[in-house]
Amino acid sequence: MKARNTDCFSGADANDLECFMKGLERRNPGEKEFHQAVREVAADVVPFIAAEKRYQNTMLLERMTEPDQIVSFRVCWLDDEGNTRANRAWRVQFNNATGPYKGGLRFDPDLTESVLKFLGFEQCFKNALTGLPIGGAKGGANFNPKGKSDAEVMRFCQALMSSMYHYLGEHRDIPAGDIGTGAREVGYLFGQYRRLTHEFVGALTGKGVAFGGSELRTEATGYGAIYFLGHMADRMGGDLEGRKIAISGAGNVARYAAEKAIELGARVVTLSDSGGLVHFEKGLAGEHLGSLHKLKEEQRGALEDIADEIGGAYHEGRKPWDVECDIALPCAVQNELDEDDAGHLIDNGCRIVAEGANMPCTLKAVERLQAADSIVFAPGKAVNAGGVAVSGLERTQNAQHMPWPKDEVDENLRRIMREIHDRCVEYGTRQGSDAVDYRKGANIAGFLRLADAMLAQGVM
Ligand code: NDP
Repeated sequence: MKARNTDCFSGADANDLECFMKGLERRNPGEKEFHQAVREVAADVVPFIAAEKRYQNTMLLERMTEPDQIVSFRVCWLDDEGNTRANRAWRVQFNNATGPYKGGLRFDPDLTESVLKFLGFEQCFKNALTGLPIGGAKGGANFNPKGKSDAEVMRFCQALMSSMYHYLGEHRDIPAGDIGTGAREVGYLFGQYRRLTHEFVGALTGKGVAFGGSELRTEATGYGAIYFLGHMADRMGGDLEGRKIAISGAGNVARYAAEKAIELGARVVTLSDSGGLVHFEKGLAGEHLGSLHKLKEEQRGALEDIADEIGGAYHEGRKPWDVECDIALPCAVQNELDEDDAGHLIDNGCRIVAEGANMPCTLKAVERLQAADSIVFAPGKAVNAGGVAVSGLERTQNAQHMPWPKDEVDENLRRIMREIHDRCVEYGTRQGSDAVDYRKGANIAGFLRLADAMLAQGVM
């Protein structure tokens, strides 16, 4: 059978990646982050489809890269001086074949539809990997919460939810937090959702524990990343004890990854933020975590202000990747680790690069890391899936009208991260060797769940 559109991609040829990407780039002009995320998946999935007849001539990859729908909103609100402000917000509902749409809301002045499409696409594969009944979505606004008062953030969140709530629901689409959207923002968004719908249901996750949130949701992404790293280290014949871990970012993911790493005896040698790097020559001491959480969650301050107090040396504008480490855990933003950074990590003897953030490594960086025999790379869709996993568990607790104790949530988080790791190993072990290609394993395992769900439900 022939391909049914003007593109040359039929799925039967393992060398069709460029042909598929040409079609995708033509349909989504200028969306470079989206192109990058799709290419990273398609590089593994195209050859896989070519070897599996049942997935050919179904346009699966085209369907998976086309969001179900994208809604965009004008969000108007009043600042503290009474001036009218206007922002743009989006919800990208990518694919709900495996469950209701699920994915965070990002508040970032530079946000674009391309970034949200990359994040929504990644989310479909990540959510599929967790094994939980959730589909993929992402959303957000070009709103900058930095420098805004609590009242301004509240008015913005209320205005956003007034437009967005029609599209959400516990069985329909369940957002959560992301960059710029923490506990405060989720609280305001949930309050407005409840007010508008007259219903107290789990239509958002990451809520405060006092009103339906799950224990450990705040910590889940960072803790989950370290559980995943523990399995990687174990497979490589070691553990995390005494290992030097370079972490970027000082946000939710970075801080809780640092907390769990220290608990397991690792040495956290760096943290960073949008201002620069803090280098901890002897490792960050656990006793300083409290000040760090307070700085970023309550005071919304800069690392520069407390670097001395927490025993680190501050370097303005510097990245962590030339600091000697055993493990690199980028936990800040997309494309923060480039090809040169990958080179420094390889040269300095780093053994593992695991993505705590979404797509923090450029394509060229990933290629360089994967080409080096001395280093193992693991992608964000596997490493940082602990956050959405506990969001899924929060949804379960809301449906049961019963909160779970911390131990139970932690046990489930550990199990899910182990299962994700095992799926990566199952589909990523290189032929004739013991080595694992985690990128391939995560892409193929995610693809299989999504593809089978889509095919079973008919053409749509
Ligand atoms: P936060 O907003 O809590 O933190 C982001 C951190 O990154 C901040 O410390 C910020 O600095 C820092 N940062 C921003 N830009 C740069 C830069 N150019 N260089 C260095 N640091 C920078 O976000 P999260 O921790 O929630 O998210 C981080 C990443 O993890 C994102 O990719 C997100 O999509 C992903 N993720 C998050 C999940 C979650 O549960 N929160 C779940 C799965 C993935 P500053 O403090 O100065 O603003």
